[in-house]
Amino acid sequence: MLELTVEQISMAQTAVDKPAALQLLAELLVADGLVADGYLTGLQNREKQGSTFLGQGIAIPHGTPETRDQVFSTGVRLMQFPEGVDWGDGHMVYLAIGIAAKSDEHLRLLQLLTRALGENDIGEALRQAESPEALLKLLQGAPQELALDSQLISLGVTADDFEELVWRGARLLRKADCVDNGFAAVLQQVEALSLGDGLWWLHSEQTVKRPGLAFVTPDKPIRYLGQPLTGLFCLASLGEAHQTLLERLCSLLIEGRGHELGHATSNRAVLEALGGEVPAEWPTQHVTLANAHGLHARPAKILAQLAKEFEGDIRVRVLDTGESAVSAKSLSKLLSLGARRGQVLEFIAEPSVAADALPALLAAVEQGLGEEVEPLPTATSPTPAAAVVAPEMPAPVDGAQITAVPASPGIAIGPAHIQVLQAFDYPLQGESAAIERERLEKALNEVRQDIQGLIQRSKAKAIREIFITHVEMLDDPELINEVILRLKQGESAAAAWDNVIDSAARQQEQLQDVLLAERAADLRDVGRRVLAQICGIENVAAPDEPYILVMDEVGPSDVARLDPAQVAGILTARGGATAHSAIVARALGIPALVGAGDGVLLLKPGTVLLLDGQKGRLTVAPDAETLQRAAEDRDNREQRLQAAAAKRMEPALTVDGHAVEVFANIGDSAGTPAAVEQGAEGIGLLRTELLFMAHSQAPDEATQEAEYRRVLDDLQGRPLVVRTLDVGGDKPLPYWPIDKEENPFLGVRGIRLTLQRPQVMESQLRALLRAADNRPLRIMFPMVGTVEEWRQARDMTLRLREEIPVADLQIGIMIEVPSAALLAPVLAKEVDFFSVGTNDLTQYTMAIDRGHPTLSAQADGLHPAVLQLIDITVRAAHANGKWVGICGELAADPLAVPVLVGLGVDELSVSARSIGEVKACVRELNLSTAKQLAQNALTVGSAAEVRALVEAL
Ligand code: PEP
Ligand code: MG
Repeated sequence: MLELTVEQISMAQTAVDKPAALQLLAELLVADGLVADGYLTGLQNREKQGSTFLGQGIAIPHGTPETRDQVFSTGVRLMQFPEGVDWGDGHMVYLAIGIAAKSDEHLRLLQLLTRALGENDIGEALRQAESPEALLKLLQGAPQELALDSQLISLGVTADDFEELVWRGARLLRKADCVDNGFAAVLQQVEALSLGDGLWWLHSEQTVKRPGLAFVTPDKPIRYLGQPLTGLFCLASLGEAHQTLLERLCSLLIEGRGHELGHATSNRAVLEALGGEVPAEWPTQHVTLANAHGLHARPAKILAQLAKEFEGDIRVRVLDTGESAVSAKSLSKLLSLGARRGQVLEFIAEPSVAADALPALLAAVEQGLGEEVEPLPTATSPTPAAAVVAPEMPAPVDGAQITAVPASPGIAIGPAHIQVLQAFDYPLQGESAAIERERLEKALNEVRQDIQGLIQRSKAKAIREIFITHVEMLDDPELINEVILRLKQGESAAAAWDNVIDSAARQQEQLQDVLLAERAADLRDVGRRVLAQICGIENVAAPDEPYILVMDEVGPSDVARLDPAQVAGILTARGGATAHSAIVARALGIPALVGAGDGVLLLKPGTVLLLDGQKGRLTVAPDAETLQRAAEDRDNREQRLQAAAAKRMEPALTVDGHAVEVFANIGDSAGTPAAVEQGAEGIGLLRTELLFMAHSQAPDEATQEAEYRRVLDDLQGRPLVVRTLDVGGDKPLPYWPIDKEENPFLGVRGIRLTLQRPQVMESQLRALLRAADNRPLRIMFPMVGTVEEWRQARDMTLRLREEIPVADLQIGIMIEVPSAALLAPVLAKEVDFFSVGTNDLTQYTMAIDRGHPTLSAQADGLHPAVLQLIDITVRAAHANGKWVGICGELAADPLAVPVLVGLGVDELSVSARSIGEVKACVRELNLSTAKQLAQNALTVGSAAEVRALVEAL
């Protein structure tokens, strides 16, 4: 890791201009043996690409990726220019930090610098600094202060033993954002120190974000290691921040005043004794929240906006939970309260604004914060847990056609069976902590057994995996501990469970990662099952005839419980195509549409529905003729699929003898035999990120090699197209911290990320080359948008290939970004092949988020705009003798196959289940007709028109 030391600093340098300063720095880096002579060119080129001025009188000249091989060892050299050097754009530089870095080791240094820059302008101070020590001090910024305020103190908390008290202390630190989630577990491993007077001390640096001290006292006398325990300090330690506090605490103990802390009755007394931040006596007011869904995003936003209108500090907490107050101006903090209907909010405002702010905030809450609210019946009334459909929303009329997100293909016809979530009636207060805990345990056991049964009965791996996750959720110690704490505070088992699940699910829903956010549905699903058990509510029995299940948001376990013989189709008001319920529906082969809008919940039970899970279309009460046609379509499809399955191992040749290769997409190295069994002629897309995601840290080269080798072995000589790691942006790896981005889909993802981490990319490439053993290996790079990205990735691969020779290697790129398609004529001269990722290409061409719950149905890969880009790609490739594959979902769409073949695509790579069907589609085609169709498709204006052209074929 790069650290700054005084030895690296050269004081009082002069340079007439920027080139002279770069020259000086380069000479110093060369003289100190860090770089070769040529590095100066790197420094100069880098400045040409964009100034390295960082702000506040600092510049960070460094080389370009091309001059990385000029670096002998990573290091920095600092030069102070008291007279300043003009760095262009009117920026004066007083300190130039020359960086010689082989990889991204300098990022930590940048982090340090930007932290220093975050404070006051230090440019002038850097100029005036007279010693290397003074300069260094400026760069290291002010040490962070120890957080110690009222929020970090909790007196008389319910705790039976030392562990529970530790957990409470760690929780305070987490709430104050001093530590990450795992701090409680870290503290449990640390040896506690007895300070005397019943006080105990624990500290750790692990997972600490900023230094902070929490102090907790138990509500009843407890003992630890045979000694009394009246108070516990938990220190999140970082640097020297706690030094002063420690000295003060020592004097307090020496003076024999330790017992004052253990027996303190107010936070103020503790803070005064310890010298923490003593809060003024701030006015407070209470109001009961009446919003049906609690303080969810919309009302919370309105509350935060209103609070921001007042200058002073305003805090809010949920009364009687023991949780600390949070800033009423922060939307995320408000959401973290998880406040539910019926709970009392306590507002605390700085005296200067309290008189105006508190009445305004209370009135806003009483008026529903922008929502219609039902008055609260009584203080202890039950809270409804069901989704409520706005009564004024009209139900779809007979004959209406509704577009929704296609989630599982197939045509389904049947009466609507509407299942709106049940309302759970439960008391807020429990009988006693022991009785409520017994209720909870009983319900958890029942649900656990029920899910274990489902795991055993499920044939599909995808379904089993989902239920295994559900069991893990039920056993999550953090969740259970939170519930138990609430039971001890007097809540009923149902209320405590519901509150904890709701706030955990809300936190997940706010995550930027679509997949993780969708896992909140699993949490709510499993939460509802337990709640139903506690409340003794039975599941509603399903009708006997095959029906279409209509739900608000269907939980995966709802789907997995379904009997495919009974449930003809699934229709939901909300949800996206990547939700687990959609995956389960696909695995069970039940046609499904999701995100059809709340109106479908108002359909009259028994209304006949026609659902097309492929086209994303729902017809309400269709006329007899439409029904007849749909039933025929469904039967034909069934027959076609059976015939296709029988011929799945044969090649896909058009009627006039043109061959199209049909490959499989896989994400799991164990998936190859099944793909080959379904007729795959090779693997057209190995999504290697799934392999990385399955590990808690980046898999090393040997682990990766074994996985890739397994795929190649199972392919028995068939080609393997591997995509290098495609993470970042919306799908980060837990062990790769990536800065939060406003628009992750437009951020650092795919090749952009791996080029920033060359060591990860190199190790993946090495593992691939080693696994190849001269078998046909094709490597492609995801999300390439520029020629430079391609060249960097190619050069790295070719360099490694010299080390690890592979006879049958092709290197190509995915066409997922419109710029890459438009540059195909240039790229085609250099690549060996293209593979079009239509999922992303459509997203970026249409500017529609591919996971968007309502818009994604319009992001159709058959849009002529997308087809134009594919056409450019194929023409450019063929003109240069290269091949083109399609590996996005479009390749498996029976209506798209004729168009893609007509555009001249050489290979289609689809999920194993679709191989037989895609081959059958190809066999029905005549190449010349398909070419004409494709040309016509390029001339129309919408995806619907393209689909109509194909249907008319
Ligand atoms: C694509 O974008 O079409 C593709 C195949 O990649 P992924 O779906 O994994 O982003
Ligand atoms: Mg993609």
